Amino acid sequence: MNNQTATEQFFAYGRPVPESARPWLAPHLRSLGTTIFAEMSALALATDSINLGQGFPDTDGPESIREAAVEALRAGKGNQYPPGIGIPELRQAVARHQMRWYNHVVDPDTEVLITAGATEAIAGAILALVDEGDEVIALEPYYDSYAACIAMARGVRVPVTLRAPDFRIDIDALKAAVTPRTTMLLINSPHNPTGMALTDQERQAICDIAIEHDLVVVSDEVYEHLIFDGRSHKPLATMPGMAERTVTISSAGKTFSYTGWKIGWAIAAPELLAAVRTTKQFLTYVSGGPFQYAIAQALDLPDQYYGDFTADLQAKRDLLANGLSELGFGVTIPEGTYFITTDISPLGFSDGLEFCRQLPELAGVVAIPHQVFYDNVNAGKPLVRWAFCKQESVLNAALERLAVLKNR
Ligand SMILES: *Cc1c(COP(=O)(O)O)cnc(C)c1O
Repeated sequence: MNNQTATEQFFAYGRPVPESARPWLAPHLRSLGTTIFAEMSALALATDSINLGQGFPDTDGPESIREAAVEALRAGKGNQYPPGIGIPELRQAVARHQMRWYNHVVDPDTEVLITAGATEAIAGAILALVDEGDEVIALEPYYDSYAACIAMARGVRVPVTLRAPDFRIDIDALKAAVTPRTTMLLINSPHNPTGMALTDQERQAICDIAIEHDLVVVSDEVYEHLIFDGRSHKPLATMPGMAERTVTISSAGKTFSYTGWKIGWAIAAPELLAAVRTTKQFLTYVSGGPFQYAIAQALDLPDQYYGDFTADLQAKRDLLANGLSELGFGVTIPEGTYFITTDISPLGFSDGLEFCRQLPELAGVVAIPHQVFYDNVNAGKPLVRWAFCKQESVLNAALERLAVLKNR
């Protein structure tokens, strides 16, 4: 099904932090504990389940891009430390991509920084811009590295809850969350795991708040091309008054189906980007040399690639959404991303964590409970996330297995 063995997958997501290791962990990090993916992947292994928990595609991206990476390796391009800010070819390609899709002018030499995936860009930005006690407002459910990075910076995370069934941003709640200690808005659209994509009005409201309170905005846009039903993505940085206060983060992993390559980037005004560069240089310094050359080519792929990619994913979304809906789940149709969120209560379940722990035994399928991504656990309790970035045959097999839930 994919190139990793099941055992490798399990270890790839780490294992629970054992109790005996806790005292070694610095006190401000002890709350981080276990990742849900460890537990669920172990369950998938033990029960030979179909894993719709993990958010990566089970087929590789374009062949030509893989060949470009091989060619770079053979030609000795990027086999030694590339420049700290990334190779010029890739920085220029990132700038061209911003121009082509968003009409956004970006200087490849002073406003683009290549990182080890979006993950390092997020860490670099938060560690550079958040000081002890600073408040960071983030949408919950959170992408899991946000909480970890805010904790590493000794900041304070302040959730604004996206609520079922439509997961729109409550703008009044966002306004109310701002205090004199607020430094940063951490925004993710299209949003993992809910699939929410910002409307023009919501985008404007976020920008108004950021400008009024002079906040820096970190905008995680890794799903910029995974947006459906004719919607289009619009970076926050392209809004009036936002370019100078926004760090835009994206990555090649999701767009080109090479999540293992970990080529990402941050885009920001020169001064702001210099701050992010300051921490990034001491995290990895550089990474992924040959892959940088390949992704420089990938970004310039013709419109057809991007269009086909989105259409293919949308068809998979529809297949899984229809199937889950027929089984009785309360389905929120995602506007973007790899994930469908469902309410399990129509099927007589109330706790997503319990449900996901039973599901491999019940049906031979693994999914991820939302509640682990919330501070307000109750808001996520009946919600479960399913990844649809899998082959149709895999999605169909999962739906067949899940039919037992209907006939219980
Ligand atoms: C996958 C993901 C990332 C991480 O991207 P990498 O390029 O693999 O580091 C960051 N943010 C969100 C919301 C994601 O879903």
